[in-house]
Amino acid sequence: MTTFVFPAPDVVTLPVVGAAARFPVRRIYCVGRNYLAHIREMKEAEDERDPPFFFQKPRDSIVEDGARVPYPADTEDLQYEIELVVAIGRTARDIPVEAAASVIYGHGVGIDLTRRDRQRDCRDKRLPWEAGKSFDHSAPCGPIYPAGTGGDPLRGEISLTVNGTLQQRGDLSEMIWNVPEIVSKLSQSYQLEPGDLIMTGTPAGVGPVVPGDVVVGHVQGFGSLTLTIAPREA
Ligand code: MN
Repeated sequence: MTTFVFPAPDVVTLPVVGAAARFPVRRIYCVGRNYLAHIREMKEAEDERDPPFFFQKPRDSIVEDGARVPYPADTEDLQYEIELVVAIGRTARDIPVEAAASVIYGHGVGIDLTRRDRQRDCRDKRLPWEAGKSFDHSAPCGPIYPAGTGGDPLRGEISLTVNGTLQQRGDLSEMIWNVPEIVSKLSQSYQLEPGDLIMTGTPAGVGPVVPGDVVVGHVQGFGSLTLTIAPREA
């Protein structure tokens, strides 16, 4: 029997709608720049025709629906990004677009929390994005709707409110790479495995939150995800 020098980390899981069994999380991939309206609002010097790209968050940055998220260290500009989440259920490598649906376990709602000030530093200094994107509690994620249940991942409203005021609204059909294209492209760089999650990018309207704010993300047919921003941990 394997023993450990200290207790091994917990398995990170998400609830599955309509099932008692939970979805065990392996990796969290994210797509950057997947909605033109968000690329434009970011006003970056980059060419807006540059294709989307991938980055990752640590698995233990997952927080569940209803959580209180402490305001993170090392930022004065915490921002929300509402995103459709794709949950992978089968191994996939170099999978064609037409076959991508066969490896998808389900879908859900996620919020790509971002330390925008650190992300801008990373861009300005041409450094990796981890400081801006891959911090503790940075991957809130709602319950997973098994494929064939819930909404249509190719179209439907995606929106986010802060304290009841609408801040983001777009449509899944506005993605530059749609869900099958994302799965196909990602599988050309990494072997996808059951338990992988993909946050698929955000529409326009991103902005800051402060402690006390209540953030509700919604994707048509895939439920909602509510967070309360709590004070920074002492
Ligand atoms: Mn994002």
